[in-house]
Amino acid sequence: MKGFLEDANYSIGLLDEGMNIADVIDNYIYEHTLTGKNSFFIGDLGNLIKQHIHWQNVMAPIKPFYSLKCNSTPGVLEILSALGTGFACSNKTEMALVQDLGVSPENIIFTSPCKQASQIKYAAKIGVNILTCDNELELKKIARNHSNAKLLLHIATEDINGDEEMTMKFGTTLKNCRHLMECAKELNVQIVGVKFHVSNPCMESQAYKDAISDARCVFDMAEEFGFTLNMLNIGGGFTDHELDLEEINRVIIPLLGTYFPEESGVTVIAEPGCYYVSSAFTLAVNIFAKKAVQSGDRLLNKLEQTQNDEPVFFYYMNDGVYGSFGSKLSENLTTIPEVHKKYKEDEPLFASSLWGPSCDELDQIVESCLLPELNIGDWLLFDNMGSGSLGEQPAFNDFQRPPIYYVMSIRNWCEMQDAGFISDTLMKNFCFVPSCIQLSSEDGFSIAA
Ligand SMILES: *Cc1c(COP(=O)(O)O)cnc(C)c1O
Repeated sequence: MKGFLEDANYSIGLLDEGMNIADVIDNYIYEHTLTGKNSFFIGDLGNLIKQHIHWQNVMAPIKPFYSLKCNSTPGVLEILSALGTGFACSNKTEMALVQDLGVSPENIIFTSPCKQASQIKYAAKIGVNILTCDNELELKKIARNHSNAKLLLHIATEDINGDEEMTMKFGTTLKNCRHLMECAKELNVQIVGVKFHVSNPCMESQAYKDAISDARCVFDMAEEFGFTLNMLNIGGGFTDHELDLEEINRVIIPLLGTYFPEESGVTVIAEPGCYYVSSAFTLAVNIFAKKAVQSGDRLLNKLEQTQNDEPVFFYYMNDGVYGSFGSKLSENLTTIPEVHKKYKEDEPLFASSLWGPSCDELDQIVESCLLPELNIGDWLLFDNMGSGSLGEQPAFNDFQRPPIYYVMSIRNWCEMQDAGFISDTLMKNFCFVPSCIQLSSEDGFSIAA
């Protein structure tokens, strides 16, 4: 698999004062309308800076290791490495991406619960030493393939509000930690800390209480074995709502103060993913087919029936679950898109159902929402599309990821520069986005008379 950076020649458009994201989206929609109406992403990298500053204000002592699986596109990685975050990688491709950026191996951790031997060897080769581990077979595999490994024992957390499937799969018990330490002693593998992951933190203060006190037990247990642990990884799962981070902070900081006071010398890290990238990306899709269905039609059996004889509209968009909406297959988030074209405030709204292009039952993006009547060729904008399909390489071979247009306001750029965050590599990728008409003509488009 080829690194994304190698073949992507990307640039970051700097937005002049007075120009905002909506203007940029207008420009690209105009351009794409002329060139085949393909879907595209706009990534506002300024948003990453905002999220980082907020993290530093609220979570200060906790160093973020950004989880690449959420979005490993080049603009995101370059901005985050310029900001100085660490990186949590789950495979070799991800490690290679950040290594190519010049991130030092101390700032990379290898956190997949199940690692291939060849990838452990790769980590050893490039000097990525911190790995997570939650079972004996994995420990033995690491011992064989990485002589300088420093392990974080991954302990399980209990998810009180359901979603058990996701949280109980990985992580081990306190009892088994003792066993793993015995094995590590025997195999001469170093253990340096503990990791846990709470998948739904804003609702889970009890999960943090349990996990942090459990982690303390593991630290104490380790002393009996002659290990000195000095790292605690509190995982990811943070949303990008400001209040949620503050909420988590209110729960965590006192717990850390109790169990891991500053004088204990323990470094606390986290693996935020969505938190950094979700809200930074918008996806624009085009409607290429449309069907009006009268209520009573059997197609409507799953939809709410409309009260009167109004039609329900089925719209088919040129991107779906086998493309940029891939995460919809596992999470059932319903995002109601914004209609790009202008419409009157009093325009009638109709029950509408939004589908991807595959004509497959699973390829439903929004089951039902109220929208003005749309036409073929109209555009829809989906917000918060930054985490999901932008992590891995496209899962389906014939799917070509839509282009990503990165932008940043001049104000954000100056902030970064003032803080000394602009590296030379980053510098060369910036370009100015001139006003709307110029952008189109520069790129060789002209308006047909
Ligand atoms: C996905 C994942 C993260 C990041 O989760 P977010 O919800 O995006 O913060 C962190 N750690 C692990 C182990 C993960 O699997």
